[in-house]
Amino acid sequence: MHHLLPGRCTMCCGSLIKQEKCICQSCIKELPWLTTQCQRCSVPLTADALCANCQLELPTYRRCIAVFSYQAPIDTIILHLKNDPYAAEIKQLTEHLVERIILSYHQTHTPYPQLVIPMPLHWKKMTQRGFNQSHIISRLLADHFLLEHKTAISIRTDLCQRVTHNPAQHTLDKIQRSKSIKNAFAVTAQAATTLKGLSIAVVDDVVTTGATANAISGALLNAGANQVDIWCLARTSWNTSSQ
Ligand SMILES: [Zn+2]
Ligand SMILES: [Zn+2]
Repeated sequence: MHHLLPGRCTMCCGSLIKQEKCICQSCIKELPWLTTQCQRCSVPLTADALCANCQLELPTYRRCIAVFSYQAPIDTIILHLKNDPYAAEIKQLTEHLVERIILSYHQTHTPYPQLVIPMPLHWKKMTQRGFNQSHIISRLLADHFLLEHKTAISIRTDLCQRVTHNPAQHTLDKIQRSKSIKNAFAVTAQAATTLKGLSIAVVDDVVTTGATANAISGALLNAGANQVDIWCLARTSWNTSSQ
């Protein structure tokens, strides 16, 4: 119905002007944009730097590109996506992710990854939910890249599987989470021949501690990928990541 009725902002209910999508410009401005962050894992920091965790041990991925800090109202919008895969806000937020991705590769003079892999869900979770929200974000992202930037993005969901079904991640603390995630992903020998020497981007909705991102990136690198970047809508900050 949103597309049929004269537009109202889904956040403030104010009228939308013609070129606005479903969140109005003033609500977009108020979102918790990620500004200063860790240059590697993208955790929000007060200045651009390498965070203490990354100084201690660098993650296996090359960098994490995130748009928002995972706090209100972004957390509610993303939670909503887990129940409604066609939430119009997600399309709009994903377009901002694309802009940030473009800027990041442009600034570092690096080519785009050759393959995009949506963060895999374990089959049990997939059956429970009926869809993988990271795959939906990947498809929106690929559509926008093609439509607005004439860039084809190739998505593969068959190369890497999640093989362990963990208890709800939020019930575990950071150390437990990092242990439970180890060996969570598997790449078949056949998939490894496809991955060999390629640069990969893994798409996720939210990166929480970075342990999952680190685990899948490690698995892809072990299978022969050349490098792995993480693209996500939101990054959790330290003060909320262990809750
Ligand atoms: Zn609004
Ligand atoms: Zn970091």
